[in-house]
Amino acid sequence: MIEDKNQARTPLSELGEFGLIDHLTKQFEVKQESTITSIGDDAAVLDFKSKQIVVTTDMLVEGVHFDLSYAPLKHLGYKAVVVNLSDVYAMNAEATQITVSIAVSNRFPLEALEELYEGIALAAKIYNVDVVGGDTTSSTAGLIISITAIGKVNTEDVVYRKGAKPNDLLVVTGDLGGAYMGLQILEREKEVFKVNPNNQPDLDAYTYVMERQLKPEARVDIIKLLKDLDVKPTSMIDVSDGLSSEILHICKASDVGCDLYEEKLPLDPQVISTCEEFDMDSTTVVLNGGEDYELLMTISQEDFPKIKANPHLTVIGYITDKSIGANLVTRGETKIPLQAQGWKNFDS
Ligand code: ADP
Ligand code: MG
Repeated sequence: MIEDKNQARTPLSELGEFGLIDHLTKQFEVKQESTITSIGDDAAVLDFKSKQIVVTTDMLVEGVHFDLSYAPLKHLGYKAVVVNLSDVYAMNAEATQITVSIAVSNRFPLEALEELYEGIALAAKIYNVDVVGGDTTSSTAGLIISITAIGKVNTEDVVYRKGAKPNDLLVVTGDLGGAYMGLQILEREKEVFKVNPNNQPDLDAYTYVMERQLKPEARVDIIKLLKDLDVKPTSMIDVSDGLSSEILHICKASDVGCDLYEEKLPLDPQVISTCEEFDMDSTTVVLNGGEDYELLMTISQEDFPKIKANPHLTVIGYITDKSIGANLVTRGETKIPLQAQGWKNFDS
């Protein structure tokens, strides 16, 4: 619980805007060849020679996308970077730079922003991206973080949401539903804490799902794996809103339908046990939960031998003609049309 920490609290007003920017950004070193000029001028200068460039932005708003009563600021910084990089990898591109913009109220001391930037710097280091700029401004209430990620890709390697063809295999990386169940645990512990702040919860049984929520990873390893296997997916998207919504995006963009098999959905044992504890249906959690940051792709049948038996890739269905629609084939072998629920941030 960040704000209860009894450490130094340096007011932001002590540094001023330029002092703050300088303090937060002096740790960043340039690693990418494409970064010609980084932080310090009016704009960064990048040179990608003949590559195509992908650009993507995501904004995280306190109270909407995160809750500082359980999300440590360092993890939040890390996650803010990762969710953006995930979009770059979903284009089959290599992430190279990010910019970081923050709006922050004076209830945050310098030390809080240092923690946030520790997470940002860690993610930038692990994923080998340069932090080349950003903006710093004040907000009247909460914290807002907006990150833009830039990546490069050979023209012939770009993978779009469109491109899936009937008979292609529907493939997903890793396992699904963990981040949503982690959120259920964190919300529950927050309520327990409100009633009894001295309660010392034993959360050992939930470490995996909590980590999936608080400190997700983007699947840069899969982009490399696909290159090594010499597989170019026919379409791809990252799983940020829940499997159902992502499948529907691919079907719509590609003008196709699909059959998704309930029995094939990849589940971690901890997701199954946590779902049982909360009396939730794991299939519903996978379809509508979100924030798993896995990659969903379609792969041509002829590439099946190359991906078969790979522990990172699970075939969960196949693409059909559009007239069939997008369906879940249940364990009882009934077909149910898939529905997009996604994150309901706009619901009251
Ligand atoms: P300008 O007035 O030209 O917008 P700023 O004073 O806002 O410039 O920023 C100075 C430099 O610091 C720029 O290179 C900008 O990209 C960078 N910068 C500002 N805020 C941040 C931040 N929160 N994180 C990283 N870089 C930042
Ligand atoms: Mg500025």
